[in-house]
Amino acid sequence: TKPIHVVGGGLAGSEAAWALASVGVPVILHEMRPARGTEAHQTDSLAELVCSNSFRSDDAEQNAVGLLHQEMRSLGSLVMRAADANQVPAGGALAVDRHGFSAAVTQALEDHPLVTIVREEVSGLPPEDWGDAIVATGPLTSPALAEAVRALTGEDDLAFFDAIAPVVHADSIDRSIAWAQSRYDKVGPGGTGADYLNCPLNKEQYEAFVAGLVSGEKVSFKQWEATTPYFDGCLPVEVMAERGPETLRHGPMKPMGLTNAHKPEEKAYAVVQLRQDNALGTLFNMVGFQTKLKHAEQVRLFRTIPGLENAEFARLGGLHRNTYLNAPKLLDRTLRLKALPRLRFAGQITGCEGYVESAAIGILVGRFAAAEALGRHASSPPLTTALGALLGHITGGHLAVESEGPKSYQPMNVNFGLFPPVEEPIRAPDGGRVRGAAKTQAKKRMLTDRARADLARWLDGAPWAEAAE
Ligand code: FAD
Repeated sequence: TKPIHVVGGGLAGSEAAWALASVGVPVILHEMRPARGTEAHQTDSLAELVCSNSFRSDDAEQNAVGLLHQEMRSLGSLVMRAADANQVPAGGALAVDRHGFSAAVTQALEDHPLVTIVREEVSGLPPEDWGDAIVATGPLTSPALAEAVRALTGEDDLAFFDAIAPVVHADSIDRSIAWAQSRYDKVGPGGTGADYLNCPLNKEQYEAFVAGLVSGEKVSFKQWEATTPYFDGCLPVEVMAERGPETLRHGPMKPMGLTNAHKPEEKAYAVVQLRQDNALGTLFNMVGFQTKLKHAEQVRLFRTIPGLENAEFARLGGLHRNTYLNAPKLLDRTLRLKALPRLRFAGQITGCEGYVESAAIGILVGRFAAAEALGRHASSPPLTTALGALLGHITGGHLAVESEGPKSYQPMNVNFGLFPPVEEPIRAPDGGRVRGAAKTQAKKRMLTDRARADLARWLDGAPWAEAAE
């Protein structure tokens, strides 16, 4: 079988390469690091996590990303295997030791006899004589390749902000003020119920802090940033502060589900949470504190947070570019570029958002490409599954007919809003009506039960086996 070229050894490219090689299709994986870096990557490992070390909730019954984890595992995901093997405690979330995680992915691909890794930038469209190729170059696609893609698709680059949260050295956090506790003492995989460090603020401190965020000096806008909207899931903390004095207290700084171990009688007005960032427990990141404040301003302001007066920062927050296609318009249902079908796209460049989502799309694209290479037909996962719902968002697959796609295509994390709704009303086992939080929970349970059943049916139907006509 002719090898398939995969461009980009990030979350999506690594999964795509693994999916191909796992069914016997040889792969040539092109990764430009370390020869050429990006604004965010710091190592030469494959599948580097550029910001948070969390894969978010691992709850497959009540959370869409937890369900996606489970589905990826059942498809033999390399990223999930490496994540599970490198967990660090994080409440109900699946967080990993970032170096251990990337090293495991790199090793597995280096060791695979059908995978050849080439460390070079692909500085234009993959050449025609390569044949079929997968472009998985991510939000920080190198400019030369991004230009070539743009010239081909005729689409303007749609860029928006992603901002990095600061990372603090654990031993510089004052434990006589900060206390360890997960919100509502939740115990997740490998967790203890006390996985976060919490810094309490009283009303006065909170108000001064919010004022400081609003007035603090920010990194100035670059031309490409000036006209682009923020993605709501990754709002800089100062932008949240600008939306109103209470916004942060109802967002990342909410005090709910936490009791100050040092002063149980004093209810904190607001809380800054820090989450373990590496296996050693020597680094903690400030949860939800993505920011484009200038570095000196970050140090000054974040040291006004009780418990962080002497904080030493391993990394400060920052601002980064994101490149993605108007996928519903440009890509077909198996993620081929309509204008040049020998190219498939995978990962964040298709307009999904997040490590897990990027990896998930990598698996699917790897399977589609492998099926084509082997002369087989690969069906898409049902839209009622997390994989199918995400794919549907990207390809417009939930629409009855292929279309030009929605007017404005926004990157999206997987969420239950992407799933076809379940029937209502929902009745309790005793036949009575279920309301409020119980109803929401019951609905999620129905969605995830349906997804599990449909995924199992799809897998049983051997989505690979049929030879193509
Ligand atoms: P990547 O993982 O970035 O992989 C792309 C790879 O392609 C890179 O290794 C790159 O070096 C390589 N490459 C690029 N151009 C070329 C070329 N021309 N030739 C060869 N190789 C090339 N998601 C989260 O879930 N949590 C977060 O906290 C988070 N934070 C983010 C912070 C920033 C600053 C950014 C930019 C994104 C963040 N994301 C986050 C979003 C996104 O999920 C990740 O970027 C994810 O890594 C995307 O996976 P990917 O495989 O599409 O791209």
